[in-house]
Amino acid sequence: MSAFRLISRPLQNSRRHLSTSLPSRLAAVTQKTTPEALSAAALHASGPMRNDWTRDEIQSIYDSPLMDLLYHGAKVHRENFNPREVQQCTLLSIKTGGCTEDCKYCPQSSRYKTSVKAQKILDSEEILFAAQRAKDAGSTRFCMGAAWRDLAGRKSNFNKILDHVKVIRSMGMEVCCTLGMLDEEQAKALKNAGLTAYNHNLDTSREFYPKIITTRTYDERLKTIDNAQNAGISVCSGGIIGLGEKGEDRVGLLHTLSTLKQHPESVPVNALLAVEGTPLEKQEPVSVFEMIRMIATARIIMPKSMVRLSAGRVRFSVPEQAMCFMAGANSIFTGDKLLTTPNNEFSDDKKMFDLLGLVPKPPNFAQGSDKKQVPVYHQSQMPKCFKPRKDDAASESA
Ligand code: SF4
Repeated sequence: MSAFRLISRPLQNSRRHLSTSLPSRLAAVTQKTTPEALSAAALHASGPMRNDWTRDEIQSIYDSPLMDLLYHGAKVHRENFNPREVQQCTLLSIKTGGCTEDCKYCPQSSRYKTSVKAQKILDSEEILFAAQRAKDAGSTRFCMGAAWRDLAGRKSNFNKILDHVKVIRSMGMEVCCTLGMLDEEQAKALKNAGLTAYNHNLDTSREFYPKIITTRTYDERLKTIDNAQNAGISVCSGGIIGLGEKGEDRVGLLHTLSTLKQHPESVPVNALLAVEGTPLEKQEPVSVFEMIRMIATARIIMPKSMVRLSAGRVRFSVPEQAMCFMAGANSIFTGDKLLTTPNNEFSDDKKMFDLLGLVPKPPNFAQGSDKKQVPVYHQSQMPKCFKPRKDDAASESA
C-alpha cells in the first residue's frame, strides 16, 4: 500500500463522518457542553481551597477526559500563579549510596547491586561551589540530598549541613534538604539555620507503599512532614508513578497530600527511571499523558502548591514538557543529575525556557507554616566554610 493511501485512509473515514448534517453535529456538541455534562475537573476547578477532599472526588477529577483535565489544570494554574514563571531547583547528592533502606526503585540502597557506590559526604567547598554554579545558571532553590534513613548518630555531619544552609541562604537562594526522617529538634535546628523547605516524599498510596518500602512506615513519613511543618519549614512532598501501582494508588497519594493540615508547598511528580539492579528495573516507563493526568489533578486540588515536574523529565521531549507546564507544573529540577539518575542539561533547559517564553521564578523567602522571617547572615556571622567571592567581599568592605 502506498504511503499516500495509508495517509488518506483516515481522511476518507473522517469525510464519511462529516456526512452527518451540520445542525445535528452542532446540537451534539452543545449537548456535551451543557452544565450537566461538565467533567469533575470542570466542577472542582473553581472551588475554594480545601483540605477535606474525598478520595472519590479526586478519583473523578483524575478520571476526567484528558483534554478537559489539562484545560482546567491550566485555568487553575493561571488563577494562582504567573504561568510564565517556572521555579528552577537544583538538587545535589551530598552523600551518595550505601543507604540502609530498601526503597525498591532506588539505586542508592545498599541492598541492591547497582552501579552506584557508597561515597563519603562531599566536602564543604564542593557543595558551596555547586550551589554557586546553580545560582549562576538561574536556579533559585538549592537542595542537598543525603542517602540516609535519618540523622541518628550524624551530629557532626548535621552541624556541617546547618552551616551550609546558612551560607547558601545568604547567597540569596532558597535552601532545601532531604536527609531522611527528622525529629522535632532537628527540624527546629534546620529552621533556625534558615532552611526554606524540607523534602520528604510519600512515594505512593498508603495501600501500595508496603510493596515498595518495608524499612520505614507510612506513618513515620507523615511524622517527619508534621515535624517540619510544626517547625515552620515548608514541606516538599510528592511521589513516583510507574512503580507498578494502579490509578487508584496515584489518587490515594494525592488524597493524603491534599488532606494534610497544610498542603505541601511543593509537590514533586516523578516518573520512575528504572535503574538496572533495582527490583523495579523491568518496569515499563510511564507516558507523558499519565504525567499530565497527575500534574493537572494535583494542580486542581492543591491550587497554591508548586507542582514539580521531577525525575523522568529527561525522557520527555520539549513539546511533552510544554504540555506538563500547561497542565499546571511550575517547577523543575535542574542540573545534570538528579541525585544519581540523569537529568536535563542546564543549557538545554535554557533553550527550552527561551523557546516557550518561560522565565525563572524568583525566590520566595516569606514561606513556611508560620511565615517567620528566616535569618540572613552578615559575613562576620558566617560559618568557617564560607569564602566570600571577590565581588561580594568588595561590596561588604565598601
Ligand atoms: S530513596 Fe532515600 S531512603 Fe530510600 S533507599 Fe534511596 S536513599 Fe535510601
